[in-house]
Amino acid sequence: MSGREEQFIHQAFQSNWIAPLGPNVDQFEQAVEKYLGENTHALAVSAGTHAIHLALRLCGVKAGDSVFCSSLTFAASVNPVCYQGAEPVFIDADQDTWNLSPQALEFALQDAKKNKRLPKALIVVNLYGQSADYDAIRALTETYKIPIIEDAAESLGASYKDKKSGVLGDYGIYSFNGNKIITTSGGGMLVSKDKKAIERARFLATQAREQAKHYEHKEIGYNYRMSNIVAGIGAAQIQELEARVQKKREIFQNYKETLQELPGVSFMEDAPYGTSNKWLTVLRLSPAEAPVTPTMVIETLEEENIESRPVWKPMHLQPVYKAAKYYPHPKGSVSHKLFAEGVCLPSGTGMSEEEQGRVIDVIRKLWQ
Ligand SMILES: *Cc1c(COP(=O)(O)O)cnc(C)c1O
Repeated sequence: MSGREEQFIHQAFQSNWIAPLGPNVDQFEQAVEKYLGENTHALAVSAGTHAIHLALRLCGVKAGDSVFCSSLTFAASVNPVCYQGAEPVFIDADQDTWNLSPQALEFALQDAKKNKRLPKALIVVNLYGQSADYDAIRALTETYKIPIIEDAAESLGASYKDKKSGVLGDYGIYSFNGNKIITTSGGGMLVSKDKKAIERARFLATQAREQAKHYEHKEIGYNYRMSNIVAGIGAAQIQELEARVQKKREIFQNYKETLQELPGVSFMEDAPYGTSNKWLTVLRLSPAEAPVTPTMVIETLEEENIESRPVWKPMHLQPVYKAAKYYPHPKGSVSHKLFAEGVCLPSGTGMSEEEQGRVIDVIRKLWQ
């Protein structure tokens, strides 16, 4: 917390706005719109997952449709596809950027066209704070007019070329879950340049309640609006965004400078087309060169009461999605290797230099 959050929450209590709408919600949405610029419209919701679900509704995804999605991600990117009764199809990652591979996507689209089963939407995930390559991706989807949902849950504050992360797709989503770069404890945001689409999402997120004094409903909606209390936390947190990106990038730089000389160690580097918010610093260990495995790193850190994690287990390897189709990179699957070789290091913006030093010391000792 930055210290300013309580003031907003206090106002909510003072004015008795204890509801899934109110001045803090408006203020938070406006702050995000202002940050993004380019006439972007924003809808605050109760989770990033809900924002993805609404975006799928806006794309008209229905039972039996297929939706393409990055395989290397958290399950929340894709679960809403199944809420709609649609079928996810997973796309591999790029060797250099770790994000959705345009080559694998091209192959998947050609195959889908051949089978007369083009996807209703494409969910592109910006992994660990790094943008996917939207120009390359859009060049492929444009031919078929497939809308892009940009899952920017992990990448608020990052950029792609001269654009802010989250505005590269037809719809963008953010998460304000407790682990993200800014938080509302739990929450999310749906953004788009399409004002009408955001108005429709607002309607769907409010139980699809028609404009009538009585409760009139013509279609199925959801209870997805953000509470005015937690929106107060968001309104304060968004002011911290730039400082936090800076801090995250410093943490990355520190890990890199102190660990990169260890044999077999590399990092998830910035792609040439953008600036990552370095939500998490991710280490990669070459099995041929590193004397230790990711599991050894994670377990040794654990012994020192330091939490670290493997890279996301790709969706095509998850038991729940074992029946789903997967398109690997034409030269061989990449995402399963990143899963096997990666370690997400502690990267919280509250970490002191001493705390970073503790992590670094534990890891360096493993190489001695
Ligand atoms: C956190 C996260 C989400 C989900 O956000 P919630 O607010 O937790 O529902 C979606 N996609 C990715 C890639 C995430 O990291």
